[in-house]
Amino acid sequence: SSSNIWLDHYPYEVKPTYEYPNQNVAQFLVDTAQRYPARHAAIFFDTSLTYEQLLDSAYRFANYLVDGCRFKAGDRMAIMLPNCPQMLISYFGTLLAGGIVVMTNPLYTEDELTHQLNDSEASYLVTLDLLTEKVLRVQPRTSLRKVVFTSLKEYLPFPKNILYPLKMRKEGIRLKKDYGPKTLPFSNMLWQSTPRAVIYEVNAEEDLALLQYTGGTTGTPKGVMLTHRNLISNTLQSVHWSYGAKPGEEVYLAALPCFHVFGLTVLLNKSVYTGGTLLLIPKFEPDVILETIRKYKPTIFPGAPTMYIALIHHPRIRKYDLSSINICISGSAPLPQEVQEQFEALTGGKLIEGYGLTEASPVTHANNIWEKRKNGTIGIPFPDTEAKVVHPETGEAVQIGEIGELVVKGPQIMKGYWKKPMETAKVLRDGWLFTGDLATMDKEGFFSIVDRKKDMIIAGGFNVYPREVEEVLYAHPAVLEAAVIGVPDAYRGETVKAFIVVQADHQADEQELDRWCRRKLAAYKVPRVYEFRDVLPKTMVGKVLKRALVEQKTQQQSDG
Ligand code: AMP
Repeated sequence: SSSNIWLDHYPYEVKPTYEYPNQNVAQFLVDTAQRYPARHAAIFFDTSLTYEQLLDSAYRFANYLVDGCRFKAGDRMAIMLPNCPQMLISYFGTLLAGGIVVMTNPLYTEDELTHQLNDSEASYLVTLDLLTEKVLRVQPRTSLRKVVFTSLKEYLPFPKNILYPLKMRKEGIRLKKDYGPKTLPFSNMLWQSTPRAVIYEVNAEEDLALLQYTGGTTGTPKGVMLTHRNLISNTLQSVHWSYGAKPGEEVYLAALPCFHVFGLTVLLNKSVYTGGTLLLIPKFEPDVILETIRKYKPTIFPGAPTMYIALIHHPRIRKYDLSSINICISGSAPLPQEVQEQFEALTGGKLIEGYGLTEASPVTHANNIWEKRKNGTIGIPFPDTEAKVVHPETGEAVQIGEIGELVVKGPQIMKGYWKKPMETAKVLRDGWLFTGDLATMDKEGFFSIVDRKKDMIIAGGFNVYPREVEEVLYAHPAVLEAAVIGVPDAYRGETVKAFIVVQADHQADEQELDRWCRRKLAAYKVPRVYEFRDVLPKTMVGKVLKRALVEQKTQQQSDG
């Protein structure tokens, strides 16, 4: 159709196919372990894990589940881990056994955890020793049969290859802790099992690989049902897109958490599919990132804007050689253009912006890496993905350049929300996913995100898109971070409020920022209220938690 004008901008190498293997996602690991058995699948601080070892461990995990735990295909396994070798093993182990992975944020409160476990009816959960007591406290209120625990230190003191179970046994490395009969040490699952090859044969289009909870920044979390085909297609789409990358040679800086689907797809699945090495970072800390870059020279670094921002402003950034980094893909929130330019200047590589959401596994759009791109846009749809901008009520396509809701269609779009057919029907219509994001498309088919539908502020009858105001604030040299929300106003209904974090060694007050904004924005968009903060509340992928800002505001109002 004439709306697919972006097809003209597809790189020569990228051909839409709609052909994706009907297989278990874990087949990626089986195939790569055969091709590159001795290559490092992951490096975790100073320990590592080859593809052969990862597959061996994943088989043991799967066999233990099937033989020792009555774990059946379709059963849910909650994985509540930061990026670490055990996360990879339990993810692939669960999939090999035909289970459905439920990724759980290690920072969840007891209430959030209880809700997620009850909603997903997970029968097992893998977590760290330091979180085990929290999980045991909620266990009686859930359907969890056992809590599997491990420790990041289990692997830390050894120079290499420590995951090989025999060697571990010989060296007598056991976790001494005992949390009682409702728990199971992770290492026992490997030792008391066999590496016999198993792989549950799935119907990739129907069977779920992942239940991924979302809505944490906007409302009650819902489980997004992602099938094996959803994950496989988004991985392959992303691999096609970065066609300059070399199979069996790339090193991925895994700073995004893999318990979020952005990290899961563009790091874990993509690296394992292509025989890359993952540098696993359990928690984003700029110093750790820089040391890891120095030592292991990553070539690909997908991230969230806040990560690139933190690195650019690191006081010793110029002492580090970042030139190994070739490909960076920013997603999950708007990427300020100054950040893009500065980071590219530092690395000499490419930093492109993409877009996605959990319901799309998650990527639907990206700029081209090596060819035509437009800064400040999210680029064009991924191969085999269709997209249009429609009137939010009628669903009719709007004119080029007009604002409407972004809707997308493709093999990566979720099957629906878990046990929520009504919610599913609201966002999935005729195979089109209504993203809840307001966007525009230009005459060459490049899309721009205006804002989230629900974040739009209506001030005195005018629509204000917080993102536009944030961009202006970010451009001020003293501003490190900015977030704009609507607050109740007796006269205008709503008015614009800005939360600001000022850069170290810089100064900016309300008058200065007001002058700045008035020069660049129409009067009705200029913030009327400012609040200066040391930090802004954020999710693990660096999205500012606007809901938290709104709630804190309401709290203060009712307090005072
Ligand atoms: P999640 O499902 O938690 O990954 O959140 C998805 C949401 O993040 C989308 O609906 C967008 O509102 C936002 N988002 C993702 N990528 C971008 C981007 N490049 N620019 C602006 N917003 C984005």
